[in-house]
Amino acid sequence: MSTLNLSVDSDGVALIVIDLIDRPINVFTPEFVNDLSQAVEQILAREDIKGAVLTSGKQGFIAGADLKDLVNAYEQGVSPSDAATRFNRENALFRRIETGGKPFVAALNGQALGGGLELALACHHRVLASHPKALVGLPEVTVGLLAAGGGTQRLPRLIGVEKALPLLLEGTLLKPEQALEVGIIDELVPPFELLEKSRQWVLEHPHPQQPWDIKGFTIAGGSGPLAEHAGRSFTANMAQVRKRTQDNYPAPLAILSAVYEGTQLPFDLAIQVEAKYFAQLLANPVARNLMRTLFINKGRADKLARRPQGIAPLHISRLAVLGAGMMGVGIARVAAAAGIQVVLLDNNLQAAERGKEQIAQALEKDRARRGGSQDAVDAQLARILATEDYSQLSHCELVIEAVFEERTVKAQVIQRAEEHLPASAIFASNTSTLPISGLAELSQRPTQFIGIHFFSPVERMPLVEVILGKETSKATLAHALDFVALLRKTPIVVNDSPGFYTSRIFCSYIDEGMAMLAEGIAPALIENAARMAGLATGPLAVTDEVSLDLQKKVVDQAISDGLSPERQRQHAQPVINRFNTLGRLGRKTGGGFYEFPVGGRKHLWSGLTELYPTRAEQPEVQEVIDRLLYIQALESARCVEEGVITDAMDADLGAILGLGFPGWAGGPLSFIDTLGLAPFVERCKQLASHHPRFQPSAWLIQRAALGKNFY
Ligand code: NAD
Repeated sequence: MSTLNLSVDSDGVALIVIDLIDRPINVFTPEFVNDLSQAVEQILAREDIKGAVLTSGKQGFIAGADLKDLVNAYEQGVSPSDAATRFNRENALFRRIETGGKPFVAALNGQALGGGLELALACHHRVLASHPKALVGLPEVTVGLLAAGGGTQRLPRLIGVEKALPLLLEGTLLKPEQALEVGIIDELVPPFELLEKSRQWVLEHPHPQQPWDIKGFTIAGGSGPLAEHAGRSFTANMAQVRKRTQDNYPAPLAILSAVYEGTQLPFDLAIQVEAKYFAQLLANPVARNLMRTLFINKGRADKLARRPQGIAPLHISRLAVLGAGMMGVGIARVAAAAGIQVVLLDNNLQAAERGKEQIAQALEKDRARRGGSQDAVDAQLARILATEDYSQLSHCELVIEAVFEERTVKAQVIQRAEEHLPASAIFASNTSTLPISGLAELSQRPTQFIGIHFFSPVERMPLVEVILGKETSKATLAHALDFVALLRKTPIVVNDSPGFYTSRIFCSYIDEGMAMLAEGIAPALIENAARMAGLATGPLAVTDEVSLDLQKKVVDQAISDGLSPERQRQHAQPVINRFNTLGRLGRKTGGGFYEFPVGGRKHLWSGLTELYPTRAEQPEVQEVIDRLLYIQALESARCVEEGVITDAMDADLGAILGLGFPGWAGGPLSFIDTLGLAPFVERCKQLASHHPRFQPSAWLIQRAALGKNFY
């Protein structure tokens, strides 16, 4: 069999070692279900076999379903009844294991997630090897689904509804001790005892039954509306889920329903209830969007799918960071954490040392909060050299400049750095707005010039936008991506344009918020609509965070560069200017659109409605939501049209990971594909009748007519 090996020892205990060939980890595939069914039937039929131990031949037990397979099922137009029958074979197999009359023990040698844990729950006993990286859990909710291999039914029967629900609703992964404490596993043993303990259990328990198959079984704590915990488990959880998801994610509500209904039924009927809810989720685009962007495509990006082939990898061991300000300090910190030697350079030694001191304080704070060794902190700091001396750059393979956002300052540091850098070194700019090709003209080696754009705060934000200038070579791109991978961040690759990709989408969003404010739409409506759409932060709140003086600088630069009217952000410009005149620049001045009282909670500034009187007639919430989402989607489509984006995955990952675009939508291009290009274009035209910036381009209209999706 290609997915497992079966052997039987002299005591009559079978050992099933799950080991899918050609796969780095074990996952559920149709072949595996076939092979396991055959093995189980053999074990049940043979009189010389007393029972079986299931374990894995790989690191970890089973990581769950194959998400690509589930996305394909959606793409091929899975019907709810197809989806429901998908798991019939698996569920029949699991029932055969638990009701066949012979003992089955799951010997978990590491991670048992999703279907892997469901298989273990169908076994009569679960032994886990105490490995620090072992995790168990049912994370299906995080991909918009529910555990459809009996997980929503066995887990509550095993540990009680009240304990099971948070694990199912949040997809919590438990460490070995936690799993033992809640009762998901029965024994925690040192790895070398795993198989022997499991074997012993088989020999000592010849005729086990699952608790739920014993007559008179009741769930600990009860089930249904009359259970003591029903108010907490169902009513309170329902309210919390709806508040948290704003009804954008159907999976948690489906899980609540499956558990509520299923736990009041006999097990075999309960499984059908689970299948019914699973079918609805699999046929819903939210699950497809989450799986495709945040798991499959994020995984591809992390494995450097955009790296040009045939170029030898470069291990950056020495990095220079120019500018020890907010971004430079963050970049130096994450690079040192990845084991890279860092030269942190600023105008003068004091400024550079101040930057290093900030890193020391942040690391110490982290250590105090999360634990960790002083030695590790010291080693990380020892890798950072604070300096004002450019000759220290002579051994660096890569430089990232993060000095002031002014072309003249950038020109100066490019020239000074290149006087000392080795000929092969790459020069990267962390600029958020200045075109890379323009900066590359200031360099002696434009083919080795690239944009590596981090997001703030660097240590927390997972995304890095890599920007190609006109002359950037393939090798420079490949090596920049090697560096991003070393930092364990997710790269996207885009072509040069003012604002690249992410800043363009970001500005389209905040500008729409400011334009609505100027139109007299109630500020609370704007901010709440954003939250209801699932956007990470309201447009006014996030503008306060990035500051209004920065916005003014960007607009002024666009005007002086003679960029097109859209790029001058004319609909938001008056608001930006007005707040700059007032000196209300955002959080950093204690007030912008919001007030930031010392020691108190921020709240919308009461003066807003005096500046921009609220119209008597307010738009529907959906209208506001549409404007906030469509404007970003439209700008993303423009980036495809202009060649800034060459792969839809970059646009979607960039918007979700860098800007907080809602995950349920899968990113702005998935949002358009999900709606359908033609309906998207129609709605844009409607919006354009009042706000011309929504007018779709001839290119997009034609694309819609051809039905040419972005994926
Ligand atoms: P900052 O003002 O906090 O820091 C800039 C640092 O550069 C200061 O320490 C300054 O002393 C130093 N510096 C100025 N001129 C120098 C010179 N000639 N030589 C050496 N050092 C010099 O700015 P920041 O927010 O860290 O932004 C830096 C760059 O990163 C900008 O290009 C900005 O557009 C970009 N960026 C910023 C953010 C953000 O959220 N702040 C996000 C992404 C990218």
